[in-house]
Amino acid sequence: MCGIIGYSGTNTNAVEVLLEGLEKVEYRGYDSAGIAFVTDKGIQIEKKEGKLDNLRNHMKQFEVLSCTGIGHTRWATHGVPTDRNAHPHYSENRDVALIHNGIIENYVEIRTELEKEGFTFKSDTDSEVAAVLFGKYYNELGDLKATMDKVTHEMTGTFALAAIAEDQPEKFVAYRKNAPLIVGKGKGCNFVASDFSALLKYTKDVYLLETGDTVVLTPDSVTIYDESGKEIKRETMHI
Ligand code: GLU
Repeated sequence: MCGIIGYSGTNTNAVEVLLEGLEKVEYRGYDSAGIAFVTDKGIQIEKKEGKLDNLRNHMKQFEVLSCTGIGHTRWATHGVPTDRNAHPHYSENRDVALIHNGIIENYVEIRTELEKEGFTFKSDTDSEVAAVLFGKYYNELGDLKATMDKVTHEMTGTFALAAIAEDQPEKFVAYRKNAPLIVGKGKGCNFVASDFSALLKYTKDVYLLETGDTVVLTPDSVTIYDESGKEIKRETMHI
């Protein structure tokens, strides 16, 4: 069971928020950790095998200003636990980054098709298939929600997904299918996470997503769509 966190806020401290969030979901067990965030130079991904402290120490060399990012602790199911197989994964053009919790059952078929089209892969994971597919469709559609719809329509299995795009420095998208994912609503900042503990420092107001829900987040908006694509209000909870 891995952990996921996603953040969009008006403060430029995305890296610290993501690292703190991952610390809170460490108890779920993991073998590597990584973060991706949008900067004025594009998307930067940093990931390290082993404990979160390895990633934290590695991040000390960077001075990052970023308002949007995603973070992941991995429990390897496809591919050994290494830096290369850790999440997030880039799309082919490195203009999109994605994290995934769960298993993509038909990843071999999708990967084979993408390889025929000339796409290349850097890891042994099922999850990188989702990142490369997301990048392909994002380049065609230019819309995070429409891209998530198309990607999740093609994949079978269980997943919680979150993705960022370099041309959307204030927005990210997430999706839940038979894997835990909740939304946290803060003041000038919004989140997704695998569980409450990652969010408590910033907010006690959460939305419970249902399976098949997609959510688009900015610092001041949370828009949830159900499986049919209809915008929907979900139950809120004050913890
Ligand atoms: N199946 C994915 C992998 O092996 C995700 C595992 C997880 O949920 O952490 O990279």
